[in-house]
Order: sequence, then structure tokens, then C-alpha cells
Amino acid sequence: MDVMIIGGGIGGLAAALSLHDAGMDVEVFEAVGTIRPLGVGINVLPHSVKELDRLGLLGELDRIAVRTSSLSYYSRHGQLIWREARGTEAGYRWPQYSIHRGRFQNALLDSAIERLGAQRIHCGRRLTGFHDDGDSVTAQFSAPGDPAIIAEASAALMIGADGIHSTIRRTFNPGEGAPVWDGRILWRGVTRAAPFLDGRSMIMAGHERQKFVCYPINPGLVDVGLQEINWIAELKFDKCGEFNREDWNRSGRQEDFLPQFESWAFDWLDIPALIATSDAIFEYPMVDRDPLEIWGGGRTTLLGDAAHPMYPIGSNGSSQAILDAAALKCAVEACGPTPEALRTYERGRRPPTSAIVLANRQNGPEQVMQIVEERAPDGFRHIDDVISPHDLQAIANRYKQTAGFDLAAVNRTENQLPRRPDGH
Ligand SMILES: Cc1cc2nc3c(=O)[nH]c(=O)nc-3n(C[C@H](O)[C@H](O)[C@H](O)COP(=O)(O)OP(=O)(O)OC[C@H]3O[C@@H](n4cnc5c(N)ncnc54)[C@H](O)[C@@H]3O)c2cc1C
Repeated sequence: MDVMIIGGGIGGLAAALSLHDAGMDVEVFEAVGTIRPLGVGINVLPHSVKELDRLGLLGELDRIAVRTSSLSYYSRHGQLIWREARGTEAGYRWPQYSIHRGRFQNALLDSAIERLGAQRIHCGRRLTGFHDDGDSVTAQFSAPGDPAIIAEASAALMIGADGIHSTIRRTFNPGEGAPVWDGRILWRGVTRAAPFLDGRSMIMAGHERQKFVCYPINPGLVDVGLQEINWIAELKFDKCGEFNREDWNRSGRQEDFLPQFESWAFDWLDIPALIATSDAIFEYPMVDRDPLEIWGGGRTTLLGDAAHPMYPIGSNGSSQAILDAAALKCAVEACGPTPEALRTYERGRRPPTSAIVLANRQNGPEQVMQIVEERAPDGFRHIDDVISPHDLQAIANRYKQTAGFDLAAVNRTENQLPRRPDGH
């Protein structure tokens, strides 16, 4: 085997498809026994959609995701601060998608099974340890809920796409400890409701201590006049050092946060109603990890959240994992399945992803909401009295450059990888 990928999340599966496209013999080892469509909504930005298009996945994405038309920031009084077009509406050659994380993961899984073969995707294989003898890396696996080693596999390279609690990251950084919590808790849910604004918009309202985000994620319900609206309600607490360990599937309780949003019923969106009628609610702390100096060594490296877990701000978690996969493919195409390829990949990806982790700690492009809250806590007559259009544009542009999705860079066609023979 050329490459074994540990973790079958969006990062691991994108890497499997990209490396397979580069002609590598790839296998995926995922801890859970069955990959189920977990999570709620995420956004996938045009620079990573460009990579997914190269893999021939655009048609499937259009079937299961909403093409996001715009992103708007509002104050906690529901007053518009800034609106910008997104995806193709903004002139990108590729759309931005709002999508259910689990549906997206399943679409990648189906493609991986079709292209690599089902026998190369191993579920119920939790990596417990590994050894690099210089010529290859050998990994040991246990089954869910039982620490006994039940399987071993060897490959020229091993990619740790095993998420924020990565075993491989811990092996290279034994003293790192738990993820860093900043005092914010996120409650997430999906509500079936009538469309708001143009039916394809992403909005955020509030400020650093209290924020609400929502966007539609399912194009399939439009005929019945409804949408699945993904929402995130966020509150900041004075840190007491205690928080529930981050678990994407932990249930949350309306009474812990709905009272704080009761007055946020705007004439263009009724936020308390959206929260109150949600199917299920999940709770997650705002955590990340400090950027690393090294991602791996020898024949092993990290990818996605294992390498650079970041706050879910600016819609970059999955997008950066997909960009990692594309960069890894380029490095392996240039250097073969060698340690040199991994170091080339790390040199290309570590600095930009570290910069995003740090930018997200300053709230990324969402800092405009905090600026408005500080300057005009009781609301404003006109946004220009609070912050100039020039400053708003500059903040938006700066983040796009940091996160690698400024319009010109994404649309540039040079350095494009060859397309697949089927024309995609
Ligand atoms: C269940 C779940 C739900 C999520 N929901 C949301 C959401 O609603 N909104 C959001 O913004 N982000 C969510 N995320 C995070 C988001 O998917 C990631 O930030 C982003 O997609 C990058 O993904 P990744 O593949 O690097 O990491 P992840 O998506 O975390 O995938 C890591 C994978 O590695 C597997 N794994 C872990 N340890 C081992 C091991 N030792 N051996 C083998 N496999 C292992 C995990 O089971 C998982 O499938 C969720 C992640 C998970 C796992």
C-alpha cells in the first residue's frame, strides 16, 4: 500500500479521493463501526469547491447542498452591518455551498467506495499505535470499545486525519493536553421553516459574547415551501476552567440559551421561533489548539482538524481539510510516496493554516459585529455613522486573503492540476 489514511471524516475521505486520483494505492481506517450522517450544517468555500470540482463531485454537491448567495452581518438589534455576495454571485468560478456535514461525508464516502473499492475502506479500525522503521510505517488497530489489537497494516506513508483528538498528533506532541476553550458555548440545530431573505443566504447577528448564525442546507424541500435551516446560537461565559469535553453529538437544552435570544425576533427573521421549533439541539464548546511547529516526522503527517483544529469561524474547518488533501496530492505527484513529499506538503500548508487558527481567535471577519456593538450598543441610524464602508470592506478582504479565498487567487487558472479524463 502507498498511503494509509487514519480517519474517514471529510478530511480523510477527501485525501483518499485526491491521492487515488494521483494514482496512489490508498486505504482508509476509520474508528467508528459505521459512518453515519452526523453533525449539522457547514459551509464549503469556493477554493475548496474548486478542488472538489477537479475530483468530479460538483454535480453531487449541487444535488445535496445549497449554493450560498450572500453573507450578511447584523447587529443584535437586527440592523444590517455588512452584506457581501458569495460564491458564483460574487464572481467566483466555483460556488460556496451550505451543506449538512453528514450528507457531505456520505457523498465523499460513496465516491471513495466507488473509486477505491469497498475493500479499501475499513470501518471499526481505531488506530492505537504505529511504528516507522524507515522503509515503511506499520499501524495497529483495535475495534470500537475494545482495546485489544485486532489488525495491523503497513504503507509507505501514513496520514493522520483523525480529528481534534488525534492519536497521531498526540504521539508527536505528548505534552500538548486538551484543546483550548475560550469560554464560548455553541448550541446547534436544524429547523424546518419557511425560507428567509432570498432562501440561499447565510446571516450572523450579535457580537462576541452573544451571536446567532443561520443558513439553509437542503435544496430538496423547496417544493413544499420549507427549508432545513441550520442555526448556531453562541454565548460567551466568564471562564471557570470547566467545560463539557467537546463531543459533536452531545445534546443541548433550549433553556440554557433560549432566554437570552427571546428578544431577537426581527421583522426579517424570528430567531427565538427558529430555536424553539428545532428538531434536536447539540452543544459544543468553542475550542481549538495552538498551531504546531511540526505536523509529523518520517513517513507520517497530519491533515485537517488533526493538524489545525480551529474555531468554526469564517467557514474554514472542512475547506482547509480539503485544501490539505489537494496539496498532499501535488506533493506526492512531485515526490512520490516519500517522506520528502510529506515535508513539502507541511511546508506549504502549515503556515497558512496556522494563520487562520490565529485569525479565528480574533473572530476573523466577524469582528465587524463586535466593533459595531462597542461603538453603537443601542443601535444606529445609519451604519456609515459607526464604521465606514472602506473599513468593512478591508476587514472582509483581509480575512479572505488569510484564508486563501480572495477572488483573483481562486479564479486564477494557472497551476491548475490536470482534469480527470472524464472531463471534470
Ligand atoms: C461526528 C462529527 C460531527 C461534526 N459536526 C460538525 C458540525 O456540525 N459543524 C462543524 O462545523 N463541524 C463539525 N464537525 C467537524 C468538521 O467535520 C471538521 O472540522 C472538518 O470537516 C474537518 O474534518 P476532519 O476530517 O479533519 O476531522 P473530523 O471530521 O473530526 O474526522 C475525524 C475522523 O477520524 C476518526 N478517528 C478519530 N480517531 C481515530 C483513530 N484513532 N483511528 C481511526 N479513526 C479515528 C473519527 O471517528 C472521525 O471520523 C464534526 C465532526 C465529527 C467527527
